[in-house]
Parts: sequence; structure tokens; C-alpha cells
Amino acid sequence: MNTKTNTIVSRHTTSKGVVVWSRCACGRLQMALVPYDVDGKGLAAGGHDIQCPHQVR
Ligand SMILES: [Zn+2]
Repeated sequence: MNTKTNTIVSRHTTSKGVVVWSRCACGRLQMALVPYDVDGKGLAAGGHDIQCPHQVR
């Protein structure tokens, strides 16, 4: 799995899915919940530095 410039900081499983913490090249932490169920809702949190080229507008 290629996560581009994001670095996986930690990963742990929960009852709902896998929670992955990663750090972007800009230094900001990102959190993502990847549900086990394909119908489940994923969740993402975290921001980017104002100058980060990876931020989603
Ligand atoms: Zn970033």
C-alpha cells in the first residue's frame, strides 16, 4: 500500500474497524478509520499545514 508521503505512526484495531494514525509531510497528524464492513462508514480527521500540497480544498 502506497501512502505517498504519509508516514504511518500507529495502527490499531477496534470493534468497528482499523484506526490508522499517520503523519503527513507537512507534519500534521491524520486519523483514519477503515471499517471492516464494506457498508460501514469510514472516518477521517486531521488537518494540514496551510502550505501543504496534500491538503484537500
Ligand atoms: Zn499535509
